[in-house]
Amino acid sequence: MIYTPADLQSDAFADNAPKFAVFGKPIAHSLSPVMQNAALAELAKADPRFARARYDAFEVDSAELNEILPLFAAKNFVGINLTIPHKETVLPALAEADAEVLRARACNTLLKTPSGWRGFNTDGFGLETAIQKAFGVDFENAEVVILGAGGAARGAAFRALAKKCGSLSVANRSRERLQKLADDIRAEGFDCNALELSQDLEIPENAIVVNATSIGLKPDDAPVLDFSKFPRSAVFFDMPYRRGAETNSVVAARGAGVRAASGLPMLAWQGAKSLSIWTGADVESAGKTMLKSLGL
Ligand code: NAP
Repeated sequence: MIYTPADLQSDAFADNAPKFAVFGKPIAHSLSPVMQNAALAELAKADPRFARARYDAFEVDSAELNEILPLFAAKNFVGINLTIPHKETVLPALAEADAEVLRARACNTLLKTPSGWRGFNTDGFGLETAIQKAFGVDFENAEVVILGAGGAARGAAFRALAKKCGSLSVANRSRERLQKLADDIRAEGFDCNALELSQDLEIPENAIVVNATSIGLKPDDAPVLDFSKFPRSAVFFDMPYRRGAETNSVVAARGAGVRAASGLPMLAWQGAKSLSIWTGADVESAGKTMLKSLGL
């Protein structure tokens, strides 16, 4: 069921149980309620405080985001996830923000505190954990190539830099957005190669390549790169995902002998980290429950 902020006045949200939500527009496609409610049910088995806890999806317009946040706090919402288009627009409404939010200028997790909403970004953790578990590699000292320069690419780039990657390249279609991200990276004292996105982008040996563009969301999207030229020593992580099927980029990459994985596990690990921020839940066991709820 998809709610709107007006539904807060209904009986469904009248009790004092801890509540959680994801805000977005569009939001109908979100898998967060399935996986978060599965993990909350597990948590409730050991901790009766969460016996009636619930996590719901709300369709929220950008223009109303900041004015509705106090209403959710008053209704005992403890934690909120944010997806398109709220990750950047929420920043002025935060009472506090963790270092990753400040660096990436994007926030996907809100925690209610006595002084207001505190912002976190768990996307970088989700990406890094999914890459570690899929390929057994991490960002430290790695040659990292990020495709895209939107919100997800920002989170990925600053996570790789914070983990002291060996080099960072960012490739994007529009020059303007690419330049803005490259400028922000340099303003933080890091370096990066800013490249135009093309099918035959040169990929270094042993690189970790992350597709953070929207290419792959639609079933008929062509692969984001020509994988016949992709070094077999490098790995490919596709942030877009399709439930019950691999993205066309992952299919093409594997067909060319490249180790590749798509973004569903990242969704689970970012969700597990959010739940642990809100409730103290163990990230590893919450992540496993969430992966299982997604059929993984
Ligand atoms: P965004 O801010 O809207 O950025 C979209 C990016 O995709 C931009 O760099 C844009 O380039 C590029 N792009 C879009 N269409 C393109 C095309 N036809 N050709 C080349 N480039 C194109 O979106 P976002 O929030 O960063 O999300 C990006 C993707 O990551 C989405 O698919 C999203 O579902 C996925 N994601 C997955 C997870 C997960 O947990 N797995 C988490 C976050 C995001 P321009 O600048 O040229 O427009």
